[in-house]
Amino acid sequence: MKIGILALQGDFEKHARVVELLGHDAIYIKDSKRLTSCDKLIIPGGESTTIIRLIEKLKLRAALLNFAQDHGVMGTCAGLIVLANSENDLPFAPLGLINLQVERNAYGRQIDSFVDTVQLSLGSSVFDFDGVFIRAPKIIEIGSDIKTLGFYKNKPVMVKAKHILATSFHPELTDDLRVHDYFIDNI
Ligand code: GLN
Repeated sequence: MKIGILALQGDFEKHARVVELLGHDAIYIKDSKRLTSCDKLIIPGGESTTIIRLIEKLKLRAALLNFAQDHGVMGTCAGLIVLANSENDLPFAPLGLINLQVERNAYGRQIDSFVDTVQLSLGSSVFDFDGVFIRAPKIIEIGSDIKTLGFYKNKPVMVKAKHILATSFHPELTDDLRVHDYFIDNI
């Protein structure tokens, strides 16, 4: 499959590595042209304020919303913030593709970054996963249409709505491919 990776800012190369390890093509998306040839899209971690600014500046919002109507989209960390419904601390509104309220940097500053076990339930597999949290957002409210697939200390850290998937941690920074595999095969 062709997996688009929004490559405006952030750790898009890490996602490309995982996508390629899984045997798919990683396509860097910097404008709307190549998006239409992709089967799915990943919005990486990084800095959500910068990513949303660039989406606006490059006039990508409509193309992204259009693509998300009928294609799977996954956002990790800053990517989750960009997909969410509302965040009170961004220069432009997030995309509103998943019914979540989030709070940026709520797990602490860069220095408070940590790796700890999260519990994931993906399809019929239930397993522990190394959750890499780097200035991660907290999900503070979730809509009734949202399914929680992952928990950290009983709080949601991986959620899904139809074909939108979002994690507050960084699966692309581990050697464990199961989150991306689930996204590509099931969402
Ligand atoms: N704190 C960043 C933000 O608000 C997210 C950090 C990350 O993606 N690791 O966008």
